[in-house]
Parts: sequence; structure tokens; C-alpha cells
Amino acid sequence: MVIKSWLFSVVLFETFIYVYGWGPAGHSTIVRLAQSQLSDTAPEWILSLTPWHWHGNLSALASWADDILYPNTNPTGYDNWQWSRPLHYINIPDWSCNYNHERDCVGDICVSGAIKNYTKRLETELDDIQQREALYFLIHFVGDIHQPLHTGFASDRGGNDVKGHYMNGTYLTNLHSLWDSGLLTTRLHRDFHSNASLYYDHIYKLMINLPSEDNDNNIEQWIDDNIKIVCEHIYFDENNITMNATANFTLGEVYYNRSISIIEQRLARGGRRLGVLLNQLAKTRPQKSSDQKNKLSSSTIALIVILVVEGILAIAVGIIFFIRYKKRSWEPNSFALSSTKE
Ligand SMILES: [Zn+2]
Repeated sequence: MVIKSWLFSVVLFETFIYVYGWGPAGHSTIVRLAQSQLSDTAPEWILSLTPWHWHGNLSALASWADDILYPNTNPTGYDNWQWSRPLHYINIPDWSCNYNHERDCVGDICVSGAIKNYTKRLETELDDIQQREALYFLIHFVGDIHQPLHTGFASDRGGNDVKGHYMNGTYLTNLHSLWDSGLLTTRLHRDFHSNASLYYDHIYKLMINLPSEDNDNNIEQWIDDNIKIVCEHIYFDENNITMNATANFTLGEVYYNRSISIIEQRLARGGRRLGVLLNQLAKTRPQKSSDQKNKLSSSTIALIVILVVEGILAIAVGIIFFIRYKKRSWEPNSFALSSTKE
């Protein structure tokens, strides 16, 4: 257990030496929004599963599930986590524009299957390491499922193969990358001086103004909302021509202006839904871990009492033996003294 904890800490340490530029901005915003809504025992629970050096700041771990996958962020262990790669997305048949769990998430190997699985795992009894792993995956996957192109078309790998130029840039980017970070970067740079805290305040205001009925528990609805954005918005360029992997796109102000508010709504909703989920989990998770801690501490106290009593007895026995020995060594002398008197 100690070795496992140490290895897990090493992975955490290694993965956060290298941090992506703006890539994790969306993920950390969602987790920070979620954390702002925690109530009752949830903050304490989250604190107990966050490495001490993050002081309960769960948003620092929002991109852990991505970071473990790559050699530049996890040089010694990235190979061991490749199994988790398909858990970050759902591929639907091109332009099918609906989600079919049996068809699109075979064996629960997709982002919605992963959210259900890690939610269930946190509701069952797990050791500390497994709980942490489940929590870090869960907070990331709830973020992923709110990025529309993480429920994208199979043939172009969620827009990764649809390439082109953005804002007159000379380098080639792709649609997935634009929706992951490119559009957000423009927004942060232009309107928030690239200050993530100022931007967080803006998204926080959006979140608290969301309508109260928002399908906070319905993952299928979250996916349907995403797919609607994919099919009705993302693939249409500034002249309303459908983009695809066979031709490079040219996108700029028009596309940015009509997309950024959609992205911000997804961030705000993702944050609120994750907050609801974490609050629910804090209530429904097994309380045995804390009971066990109590049991452990009472058994530790009992052990200490036994050791103290044994120690006292040992000292007492030692004193008795010492007195007897002293008495014996004194008696012949007194005999000798008395005999010399005679
Ligand atoms: Zn991801």
C-alpha cells in the first residue's frame, strides 16, 4: 500500500512537471466551477483525495487523465495508461446525428460508459488509491463529454482529420483542436488579458444564471445536446459549406463569434453538472472508509494502552527484582557486620 501510494504520487509529480499551455483551460474551469458548488461533506471528501501539495484544489488534477497518456507529460509511465485512451470520447457514424449506446459504446468503452463506471466505483468500497484514480478520471471525463467534438464523427476522429487555417494563421490546425482550445485561447487573449481567473469569474456568472432544470443527471441528454451542436453547427464554415477531411478550411471572426458562446455554455453546464454529481457522490459513497479509520484509530489506541500497561508491568517487575537483589546483596553484609560484632 505504501509503495502503491508512493508510485501514484510519483506519477502525479511527473505529470505536473510539464503542463500544457491552454489545453487544460476548459477542464480546469469546469472542475473549479464544480468545486465552487460543493456542500456538506463533499469539500472534506475531496480534500481527503487530493494530494496534500494541492491543498484540496481539484482543478489542478483536471487534466491528469490526459497527461498520463503522453511521453512529454508522463515520460516513464505513459505506456501503462494507453488502455484508457478510448474512454475520452464517443464516435458516432458520420451524420447519424444520434447516440446509440449499444452501437457507439460497445462494452461501455467510451466516455459515457467511463462516467457511469467511475461513478459506480466511487459508490462502492475502494481503497484510497482506487478512489483517487476514479475521482480524477471522473472529473476529466465529465469535462470531455461537454466538448461537442468528443462525441463526434468516427471517420474524421472527432474533427481531428478536418484541417485548415484559423484567424489567418500560417500553421495548419484542425477542427478538434479549435474546439478544445483554439477558440478559447482567442477569447482569453482578447477579452481577459489571458487571465484564467478573470475568465473563470465570467463563466461562473454564466453558470449561476443557467436555468434550474438542466438535465443535470441525464448523461444521454448531455450527449444529445453535444451531437446537435456537431450536426447543426460545428461542421459548417463561414459560407455555410460543410467542412470535411478532404479540403482545408479557412475560419476566422465569423466562425469564432458564432461558436464562442456555445463553448462557454458547455463549460458552465459541465461545471454545474460535475458539481451536482460530486455532491451526490459525497452523500452516497460508502462511509466505511471513515468507519475503518475510526476502527483503526481505536485499535491503535487499544494497542498503545496494552503497550503502556505492559511497559508499566515490566518496569514494576524490574523494580521488584532490583529491590530483591539489593536486599540479598545487603543481607550478607549485615550478617558479616553482626558476626564481627560477636
Ligand atoms: Zn480527455
